[in-house]
Amino acid sequence: MANEQDLMEKIVSLAKRRGFIYPSSEIYGGINGFWDYGPLGVELKRNIKDAWWHDIVRCPAAGPDGRPIQMVGLDCSIIMNPKVWEASGHLSGFSDPMVDCKKCKARFRADQVWIVHWGDQAKFDEWLASAFGNPTTLPEGYRARMAQKLGLAGYTAEMQEKVREILRLGRYQRGNQPPTYAKTVLASAREEAKTLAQLSNRERKIVANAIIVDSEPLSTYGEPPEDSQCPNCHEMATFTKPRQFNLMFRTTVGALEDPSALAYLRPETAQGIFVNYKNVLDTTRIKTPFGIAQIGKAFRNEINPRNFTFRSREFEQMEIEFFCHPGQADPWYEYWRDARFKWYVDHGLKSSKLRLRNHEKDELAHYARACADVEYEFPFGISELEGVANRTDFDLTQHQKFSGRDMTYFDDETKERFIPYVIEPSGGVDRATLAFLCEAYDEDEAPDEKGAMQKRTVLRFHPRLAPVKVAIFPLVRKDGMPEKAQAIYQACAKHLAAFYDEKGAVGRRYRRQDEAGTPFCVTVDGETNQNGTVTVRDRDTMQQVRIPGASVLAYVRERLHI
Ligand code: ATP
Repeated sequence: MANEQDLMEKIVSLAKRRGFIYPSSEIYGGINGFWDYGPLGVELKRNIKDAWWHDIVRCPAAGPDGRPIQMVGLDCSIIMNPKVWEASGHLSGFSDPMVDCKKCKARFRADQVWIVHWGDQAKFDEWLASAFGNPTTLPEGYRARMAQKLGLAGYTAEMQEKVREILRLGRYQRGNQPPTYAKTVLASAREEAKTLAQLSNRERKIVANAIIVDSEPLSTYGEPPEDSQCPNCHEMATFTKPRQFNLMFRTTVGALEDPSALAYLRPETAQGIFVNYKNVLDTTRIKTPFGIAQIGKAFRNEINPRNFTFRSREFEQMEIEFFCHPGQADPWYEYWRDARFKWYVDHGLKSSKLRLRNHEKDELAHYARACADVEYEFPFGISELEGVANRTDFDLTQHQKFSGRDMTYFDDETKERFIPYVIEPSGGVDRATLAFLCEAYDEDEAPDEKGAMQKRTVLRFHPRLAPVKVAIFPLVRKDGMPEKAQAIYQACAKHLAAFYDEKGAVGRRYRRQDEAGTPFCVTVDGETNQNGTVTVRDRDTMQQVRIPGASVLAYVRERLHI
């Protein structure tokens, strides 16, 4: 299996080489935080969205009361009346603290300037002390989160000391460079210290996580020191005081560009659901408890997009707002939290790499009653895939207040009127795609044309998510083989994602499909002309069986359960 440290690099490179994910507008040097999905990537992403939509909206499971859950879908506009963002709190609260270098005018997140300042031993030791749970100047919630992310619980003092030492070396080695990618730091720490080489994989992972985590927002940690060195011009700069930078992208609507025309690209899909909740109630026969689901683009002007597509500026969300009686909110919260975790496991993420992290009380937003993150162990660290929260009646109450419209629900059976509580499972399509890609990536060995074992890269996608389900090849481009293979391809393509390829050695064609994650390859050969049978090769076992060419579609469907 690939070494942990370059695993991410291999995945990024495979994603580009095989047409899963490209940097956006690459011919112009790209644009930070934006990505394009290529021919295989778009299929993978669509399969994830289709699986989610099917399981949530079209064919929901039974709820805690044993009855099928009532769910409907929506597709709302990206630009909404700006009052929506006033009511939701995004206009005033959705921000990170920023500072500007007064010399070169470059802009940084305040905590990044702090980090640069940590060339100072005393400051760095102070941070380490807080990060590792000693008396601290950091707020409680942040410290708890960091300890969780580092996975340090249960570690011996000796191990903690070792991690501290490596971090310290990494930090000094990095010097005044901005904290970009942990890999660089790890590599240089290894060079310098030689200590890293002696760490186990698990220990190395902790260090990698620690380095990532230490560049997370420390927005509550206070102001950056004014005498720090600028990461851009490297001058000893005087920074402006931190100012809140709103993460919403702004635009104007219509010909006028004055403040009255100001609008925002939505930073989440949820608000479209809240503002349509009454429309859905009035135009359908739905009753509480029920859910509204939406998949769509969201935009956040992230200060520090990183880790491939994990933190992008344009991304897709798949969100559910589930409306229920306040008295039923706790069991529904638990239901959705567990169901969403299970969904990822059912689609191939190993449960040992997934975890459900319940938020501590002091981490909860003021309106939330409970919240949990589904987290996945990416090669760059453990990070959030989806959040599930009990948002109480906060959002509907806000919209009632700001719009003046009645957001109450009347239950004709109990004659009770109330504002429903909302349970919100909110996931990222791009983060799910990245997690499935990372999980699927594997390396093993396969024989080449001469029977010599060669390294093979294979994506072991869950069949439901695999971009291509079956590839069909003629062994050679003569003797009627292409025509027969084309006929099988046509028969399959009507029902599932199929691919036809007749170029190059068949072994190489298999290898290309392994890299695309195609579960089955079908080859038409000399024997097909005699008895109508073809070979079917299994991606994972590489075993080949002969079956009648006419049964290919049924064979694939039966094995993939599609
Ligand atoms: P984070 O703490 O990682 O910034 P968040 O808690 O702000 O995420 P939410 O506002 O809860 O995220 O958004 C719900 C989901 O949307 C997240 O779980 C994630 O999957 C996805 N998401 C949020 N921000 C981004 C982003 N910048 N790039 C890709 N996906 C994102």
